[in-house]
Amino acid sequence: MCNGCHGHCCTMPVEIKLSDLIRLGVTDEDEAAAGVKKLSKRLIKEKIIISYRSGTEFFMLSSRPNGDCLYLHPITRLCTVYEKRPDTCREFPKIGPRPGYCPVGPKNK
Ligand code: SF4
Repeated sequence: MCNGCHGHCCTMPVEIKLSDLIRLGVTDEDEAAAGVKKLSKRLIKEKIIISYRSGTEFFMLSSRPNGDCLYLHPITRLCTVYEKRPDTCREFPKIGPRPGYCPVGPKNK
């Protein structure tokens, strides 16, 4: 089903957890222990995330102006951090903003 797709799922909002940020290598446990709000401020400033919700403890991964995920290669349309990608991406489309939904449905193929 993914053959020939241009990474449309990587243009959807991606909510990630602290463990994903640590796996991606953009922070570590020590920085997180010093305060997640301070950490999220730095990551927002560096345009790695766009927001953090303390209620759900979800960070929203940044996207480019065209909607592509920060980590989607613009030409190959492949994930540049595939081995370290967030759990949301690993579980797609089982979990995500619209569980079970693929933006490239049969009518778009
Ligand atoms: S991290 Fe990789 S797999 Fe996840 S949305 Fe971004 S480009 Fe796609």
